[in-house]
Amino acid sequence: MLDDMVDHLRDRRNQPVWQPLPPDLRDNFRQPLAVEGAAAEDVYDRFRQSILPYSTGNTHPRFMGWVHGGGTPLGMLAEMLAGGLNANLGGRDHAPIEAERQVIRWASTAFGLPETAGGLLVTGSSMANFIAVLMARRTALGQDSRRTGLGDARLTAYASTGVHRCVPDALDMAGIGSDALRQIPVGPDFGMDLDALRHAIAADRAAGFTPFLVIGTAGSVDIGAFDDLNAIADIAAIENLWFHVDGAFGALAALSPQLSPKVAGMERARSIAFDFHKWAQAPYDAGCILVRDQADQIATFASPAAYLTATDRGLSGNAPWPADLGPDLSRGFRALKLWFALQVFGADRLGAVAEQSCAVAGHLAARIAREPALELLAPVPLNIVCFRYRAAPADSLDALNATIVADVQEAGLAAPSTTTIGGHLAIRAAFVNHRSRAEDADALVDALLAAARAAVSQAV
Ligand SMILES: *Cc1c(COP(=O)(O)O)cnc(C)c1O
Repeated sequence: MLDDMVDHLRDRRNQPVWQPLPPDLRDNFRQPLAVEGAAAEDVYDRFRQSILPYSTGNTHPRFMGWVHGGGTPLGMLAEMLAGGLNANLGGRDHAPIEAERQVIRWASTAFGLPETAGGLLVTGSSMANFIAVLMARRTALGQDSRRTGLGDARLTAYASTGVHRCVPDALDMAGIGSDALRQIPVGPDFGMDLDALRHAIAADRAAGFTPFLVIGTAGSVDIGAFDDLNAIADIAAIENLWFHVDGAFGALAALSPQLSPKVAGMERARSIAFDFHKWAQAPYDAGCILVRDQADQIATFASPAAYLTATDRGLSGNAPWPADLGPDLSRGFRALKLWFALQVFGADRLGAVAEQSCAVAGHLAARIAREPALELLAPVPLNIVCFRYRAAPADSLDALNATIVADVQEAGLAAPSTTTIGGHLAIRAAFVNHRSRAEDADALVDALLAAARAAVSQAV
């Protein structure tokens, strides 16, 4: 298994990026559970035939569709070690918890948070953003609200229109409701319009609402835009709002001297959500919530249960336990792959991966500027390029662009995705995988242009 997987990763570039799962293989997944066990070798054959070739494709250098990391062989091996240890990181006194705390400290130091900071590894930024909303809610409503709930509080939160969908979802799950999220328009650089933010807060206060949370986006998922985090921190301080940063991938810009000015002000946040499984290339899943003051996290999540009580001595020592810092009790050793990666690659090489993705995006943007049949639909502040094919009648452009994206995906040549920019369907190429190079961006353009020629000639 190990040899096959290492070979698979080595040869990834020569395989299709993605291919659809054939219907007969898909049907195999509907077979009932066997009563008698099968040989592991036979099941492994099934894996090789019906799972390995039909995965998402994000290990491939020409996967650009969504903000997905590429993973590393080192991460894969660390996952194996973690599986062997089978540690439960909910609590108790053992070294794996120290490794997680060390990863949290490394991250919070790299992002400029103070000594009081804490945090927790979670599935992804969706969960990390949710945890931030819960901490902000408790801070706004007081400790009793953990028993009494929202009462008649009318909380409101603020983020730009570029905010990730998981943020309104988090408000929904927190019982506050997604309508409580005021989506503030963005300026020409796609960063939050700060005057509009001030006005929205004032209007809500005048209408009897209680503003409690403002979320700055560091690297928007659609185009990679950054809000002015220092300006938002100033407003949050004046308005007494919890300042949270969703830096799912963009927070890692802090590791690059060239990109770090974009996250200036992030160190003033009360909480930061980000992912190790995107730009930091950790295998899925590995999200992280960092909190400026760990006391806020404990106050939000710790709850005494007799059988879980920490003691000074023995295996029940080592409080506070990770279970006191978030919703999960049993938790795996997600930290180990990060503990390896941060030491082996170091902050410099992880920062260099971010720079390289931005350089590939810049190369693609320059190529698009030279191709008369293509046009950029948004600025390219980071690693994401939004563009479209334009050499066709205006009323057919959305459909044509959707077609050529699907054609290129199904041919296994590259995996861009689509989004909507200014009311137009855009082709979106997000460079996150450390394996992606300028030649991959060129291959994307070549494939799209060929698909467009084929589609246009077919239509005639
Ligand atoms: C990916 C992303 C999320 C969601 O993170 P998951 O790890 O997929 O849960 C949230 N915000 C932004 C800006 C993202 O790019």
